[in-house]
Amino acid sequence: MSITQPHTDSYYAATVGDRTDFAPLKGEQHADVCVIGAGFTGISTALHLAERGYRVHVVEANKVGWGASGRNGGQMIGGIAGENNIAKHHGKNVDELFSELRWAGHDIIRQRVQHYGIQCDLKPGYLDVAIKPRHLREFEADHERLQKAGFPYETQLLSREETRDLIGTDAYIGSHLNMGNGHLHPLKLCVGEARAAVSLGATIYEQSPVIRIEHGDKARVVTEQGAVTADFVLIAGNAYHQLEKKLRGVMFPVRSFIIATEPLSAETVSRINPRDVAVCDPNFVLKYFRLSAEKRLLFGGRINYFGEDPVFIRRKLRQKMTSIYPEFADLRIDYAWGGTIGVPVTRVPLLGRVAPNVFYCQGYSGHGVNVTHLAGRIMADAVAGTMEQFDLFASVKPFIVPGAHLLTKPMVALGVLYYQIKDRL
Ligand SMILES: Cc1cc2nc3c(=O)[nH]c(=O)nc-3n(C[C@H](O)[C@H](O)[C@H](O)COP(=O)(O)OP(=O)(O)OC[C@H]3O[C@@H](n4cnc5c(N)ncnc54)[C@H](O)[C@@H]3O)c2cc1C
Repeated sequence: MSITQPHTDSYYAATVGDRTDFAPLKGEQHADVCVIGAGFTGISTALHLAERGYRVHVVEANKVGWGASGRNGGQMIGGIAGENNIAKHHGKNVDELFSELRWAGHDIIRQRVQHYGIQCDLKPGYLDVAIKPRHLREFEADHERLQKAGFPYETQLLSREETRDLIGTDAYIGSHLNMGNGHLHPLKLCVGEARAAVSLGATIYEQSPVIRIEHGDKARVVTEQGAVTADFVLIAGNAYHQLEKKLRGVMFPVRSFIIATEPLSAETVSRINPRDVAVCDPNFVLKYFRLSAEKRLLFGGRINYFGEDPVFIRRKLRQKMTSIYPEFADLRIDYAWGGTIGVPVTRVPLLGRVAPNVFYCQGYSGHGVNVTHLAGRIMADAVAGTMEQFDLFASVKPFIVPGAHLLTKPMVALGVLYYQIKDRL
């Protein structure tokens, strides 16, 4: 019997307010589209399709937002990982191709938050912080590109002193402020979108791990107690599924962890983050942090560790947090959790098909809040027969590491080590 799991013990699960309790899949069901996985990719696609009048069934192994979507840093970051690789395969000017796509996910999120009244603590403001001079050069180029493109939000390059004034630490040599990015409570967003999809006729099943897909003119998605037969299937299990042979070994499963401190005093907040921006460094083995709605510091980072032990996570992340804010050495930590990110070897999000009517969409390299929402629209377009943006991504074939799915822990270690070395260059 497959084992299903409750939400991880995160700050988000504790504060989501609306706890979903959709019934498991039972018996033989029929749909236009069956989506496997109720994270941002699956739910975003389901909502796009429900808005267009498709009959959608979503089959989730655990709970809505149980995976990375309900555990992440909540940083709404623009851009798409691996753009240069896509450009290489496509032979066109990457800026031209991506000028709209880089921010499309943000627009979808903002529009849905407003349209469906989703309360997910969405706030504008994001600070890329520099550790090395090459980061400053990258920010300058990014800033110039945004100016040229007529980016409609405030962006500003900040000196070391201005950065210190904004986030109360001397750890960085400069930064790039972008008020077009932002941050949010990801589990509230995912559940809010799921409720919106259901209000438009979508069906969601929780605690229903998919065991296999039976291929044919119509595909049959099978769980222990039931099945959905559909014209199209989308596999949206990201780093948490091992469903199709063709998709094994196409991503490094990278672990990322977060702690949530006790709420900070008003004086501390005005010293370390008066504009309430999300902060992130550009390393692959990165540190990222922001304030929650009740002013807890949510501090995240990557550790070469595959377990879930909160004591270990607290200790490791407290070390990282005090490297930025030494004065927080004795702050109480109320929550500690981790999740798995899918990082394709090419870094390009993996959109493709394993059969003419079975699509997959995964691997956003830690930029998933934005890109899953764009991907949801692209997948809905693909089902509706509009393939232009789908083909853009699908033109980059996944690079497969043979046997990687059998070696999860060594692959995590190897992947993190590879990127750690790149960070040092
Ligand atoms: C700790 C952490 C911090 C992050 N921080 C950020 C951030 O600040 N900003 C950002 O942009 N991105 C961030 N990310 C990445 C982002 O969260 C992901 O890219 C995004 O959520 C992926 O969404 P998804 O729906 O594709 O996958 P997931 O959210 O992982 O959802 C996959 C779902 O599929 C289900 N599933 C798997 N197998 C099956 C099966 N056989 N049958 C049925 N269901 C199945 C799982 O139970 C799961 O619910 C972070 C990730 C982590 C883990």
